[in-house]
Amino acid sequence: MNVIDPRTAIVLISAMSALMALVLWALKRSYPPSIQGLGQWAQALLIIVVGGILAASRGQLPEILTTAVPNFLLCWGVYGLYAGTQRFYGVRPATWRWLAVTVAVTLGTLWFALGDPSYTARLRLVTALLAVMFAVHAWFIVRQGMGSFSRWLTVGVIVYIAVIQLVRLATTFFLPMGDTILSGTPQHVLFIASFSVSVLLFSVGAVLMAGDRLRAELELLATRDSLTNTLTRRYMDEACAIELERSHRTGQPLAMLMLDLDHFKTINDTHGHQAGDRVLVEFAAKVQRCLRSKDLLGRFGGEEFALLLPNTPLDAALQVAERIRAACVPQGNEVGCTVSIGVTLSLPQNDSMDKLLARADAALYEAKNTGRNRVVAG
Ligand code: GH3
Ligand code: MG
Ligand code: MG
Repeated sequence: MNVIDPRTAIVLISAMSALMALVLWALKRSYPPSIQGLGQWAQALLIIVVGGILAASRGQLPEILTTAVPNFLLCWGVYGLYAGTQRFYGVRPATWRWLAVTVAVTLGTLWFALGDPSYTARLRLVTALLAVMFAVHAWFIVRQGMGSFSRWLTVGVIVYIAVIQLVRLATTFFLPMGDTILSGTPQHVLFIASFSVSVLLFSVGAVLMAGDRLRAELELLATRDSLTNTLTRRYMDEACAIELERSHRTGQPLAMLMLDLDHFKTINDTHGHQAGDRVLVEFAAKVQRCLRSKDLLGRFGGEEFALLLPNTPLDAALQVAERIRAACVPQGNEVGCTVSIGVTLSLPQNDSMDKLLARADAALYEAKNTGRNRVVAG
């Protein structure tokens, strides 16, 4: 079983962890600050690296620096990985509580080093703490919801290394331990090998999770208007092309509505720009409440919105438009404005998005010209 020299293996893991820390740190530098946790993960790996190097220096440094200190650093680094994950999910880590537990376990290992020397007792303390930390960490991610490969990978790795800790703990009861982690007994070799694989795969999982998060944020940015949370013009263009094609293929009618708030400028002028923003947000929410889930509402300009209603004939589209118009009439002292709406329907053949938009716009123009706060079909 003594195929790898434990000291060399520890140095190799440390080097790999340091490289992984570098990767995570580089990602932190290039990713937007909204993606949290990368810095903590990198830090935690570096703490493990220092612990590993000290543990491998046994015999060359004062004993406390190669036993109690690396034990503390290993546990604290493993906790740091969990704290990084918590930060990644926007949860504040309970650092002091875990520091207290880690210090208590370290003091325990010191007692079993100096007061009542027992390597087995030290090992039990540390493996039990690590197993608990890994288990809590894995459970935390599971509670955030699985559903992506990166999370499965990360949880899988953490559960694996937690199980390895338990196995190692169990072996203290029936296998010879040697007297240090460098003794090369099978359970130590298994631990060292598992730990190195886990560090690597955990880092890959973390990088992938951060990548998933970045992709989701960019997608949101590209598809959602940040003020009103309605769809962007760009998204609406693509959706409209798809819906038009579907409508032509199936013969189902597609309705398009253009909505423009009436005299919106006076809201800004009398109540200020922020009040204007709130009116826009409230308007979007009111419209959404009148819609089905497959309807698409997008912001086309400042206070101009487009609405696509798939599988909707003209009379139903006019009803929806009228419901929206009625819902938007300000009540009592409410700061708000009415809305004018132009409605049009895709024609059975060869209708393009430009033509659809032009007809809806013309209808909207007529609604504006004939007194506003009304629905006109075109
Ligand atoms: P009409 O009834 O003819 O549509 O009149 P209107 O005042 O609504 O239209 P107009 O196009 O003259 O003014 C639109 C105003 O919307 C002008 C612009 O300052 C304001 N606006 C555009 N985008 C935003 C925004 O994001 N927030 C706020 N508060 N105002 C905006
Ligand atoms: Mg307007
Ligand atoms: Mg306008």
